[in-house]
Amino acid sequence: MDWTPTRARALERLARFLPRAGSDYAETRGYDDGPVGEAPGERGGANVSQLSPWLHAGLVGEAEVIEAVLRQHSPREAGSFVSEVFWRVYFKGWLEQRPSVWEAYKQGREAAFARVEANAGLRTAYEEAVEGRTGIPAFDTWARELGDHGYLHNHARMWFASIWIFTLKLDWELGADFFLRHLKDGDAASNTLSWRWVGGLHTAGKTYLARSDNIARYTASRPGGPLAAEELADEAEPLTEPREHGRRSLDLPGPVSPDALAEPYALLLHDEAAHHVPLALSAPPALVIGAARPEARSPRPVGAGATAFARGAVTSGMDEGARAFGCGSVWWEDGGDLSAILAEAGIERLAVPYLPTGWTRDALMPQIAPLVEEGRVAWILGDLARATWPHARAGFFRVKKQIEPILGELGITGANPPEGLPG
Ligand SMILES: Cc1cc2nc3c(=O)[nH]c(=O)nc-3n(C[C@H](O)[C@H](O)[C@H](O)COP(=O)(O)OP(=O)(O)OC[C@H]3O[C@@H](n4cnc5c(N)ncnc54)[C@H](O)[C@@H]3O)c2cc1C
Repeated sequence: MDWTPTRARALERLARFLPRAGSDYAETRGYDDGPVGEAPGERGGANVSQLSPWLHAGLVGEAEVIEAVLRQHSPREAGSFVSEVFWRVYFKGWLEQRPSVWEAYKQGREAAFARVEANAGLRTAYEEAVEGRTGIPAFDTWARELGDHGYLHNHARMWFASIWIFTLKLDWELGADFFLRHLKDGDAASNTLSWRWVGGLHTAGKTYLARSDNIARYTASRPGGPLAAEELADEAEPLTEPREHGRRSLDLPGPVSPDALAEPYALLLHDEAAHHVPLALSAPPALVIGAARPEARSPRPVGAGATAFARGAVTSGMDEGARAFGCGSVWWEDGGDLSAILAEAGIERLAVPYLPTGWTRDALMPQIAPLVEEGRVAWILGDLARATWPHARAGFFRVKKQIEPILGELGITGANPPEGLPG
C-alpha cells in the first residue's frame, strides 16, 4: 500500500475504492484480509477504503468522499459506507461536547504508566503486548502489523482492544496510547472513544468481547490463513470510572463571512486540516503557515510512520497551497513564535481550521488563544461537522437518523465530486 501523504494520493485511493463502496462494502467490511496492498491480484485491505489517514489529516474531506461515493452508488447501496464516515464525525462532535473525557484520558494514561513503572510484572505484560510477544498469535500479529504499517483494519482494532482489556487485563489508556502513537490516522476522538466503547465506558454497560471463532472466521482470507486466538477471556465485565462526564453546550463558529477574509490573511494548515481544498476558502490567503505536531499525541515516542505521514501531509498541503494561491509558505515549528511569523509577514489576520478537542488543539491553542482575544482569528468549520455535531449528544443512533436530512440540507447528492478526482 502506498501511503504517500498527498491529496492526489488520497483521491487516487478513493477512485480505486469507489466501485466497492456500495453493497460490496456492506457485505465484506468485517473481513480483515491482512496487510494492505493494492497491486493487481493482491486482495489485502481491498474490502475497506483505507482512507482514514488522509481523512484524519484533512487532505480529503468527509463531505467530498461521500459525494464521490454517491456519484457511483444509490444512497441505499452506499448506506453502510456513509454511515461509517458519519461515525468519525459523530465521535468528533461527541468529544467536543465532553472535553473532560480527553483530559481524564491523559490523566489516566499517566497514572497507568506510573503503575507500569512501579510494578515489574505489569511492565513485562505491557512490553509483551506492545512488542507482540503475548503468545496469542492473532494479537501478536496485529501488534507487529501496527508497527510495520501504521494501520489496522477496524475489526482488528476491536479485537485487539478487547483482548488488551479483558484477556491481558491491561489499562485501556495504555492501549489507546499505543494506538495513538502508531496509527497514521491516530485521532483523539475516534481512538479514545472507540477504546472506551470496547471497554463499556462509552455506551454504559455495553462491552465488546473478542471471540476466537469470530476472529478465525473474519481473518480466513489472510495470506497465512485464519489467525488463532485461543483462551481469550469469556466474559467482559464493563469498566467503571470514578466520575460522570457532563455535556457542555456547543459554541461553534458559523460559516466564514466574506468580510472575515477580506483583508490579507494567513491560512494555518495543521495535522487535522492539511489541505486548502476541503476548506472551500472564499478568498485566497496571502501566506500559508504549516504546523505539524504529531509528537503531541503522547509524551512517549510517536512512531516513525505516523510522524512522517503527519509532517508529509502538512508539507504537501503547504506546497500546494502556495502554488494554488501564488503566495509564500512558512513553517511554524514547535517552539516557534506564531505572532512573530505574522508580524514579519505584515499580516494581521489568521484563518484557522477548527481545532477539535484533542492533541492538535492542546499543542496549538496556547499561541492562538491570544490572537483570538485580539479578534484576529477566523475559525473555519466544515458544514458537515456544523450540521452533525449538535446531534452527537449521546449514542450514534441519533446521528444515524439525521444522515439523510443532513446530506439533503447540504446538497451532498453525488453531483459535485471532489476537485481532482481521477477517472
Ligand atoms: C480501538 C479502536 C481505535 C480506533 N482508532 C481510530 C483512530 O485513531 N483514528 C481513526 O480514524 N479511526 C479509528 N478507529 C475507527 C476505525 O477503525 C477506522 O477509522 C477505520 O478502520 C479506518 O479504516 P478505513 O479507512 O479503511 O475505513 P472504512 O471502513 O473504509 O471507512 C471509511 C471511513 O469512515 C471512518 N470510519 C470507519 N469506521 C469508523 C469507526 N468505527 N469509527 C470512526 N470512524 C470510522 C474513517 O474515517 C474511515 O476512513 C478506531 C477503532 C477502534 C475499534
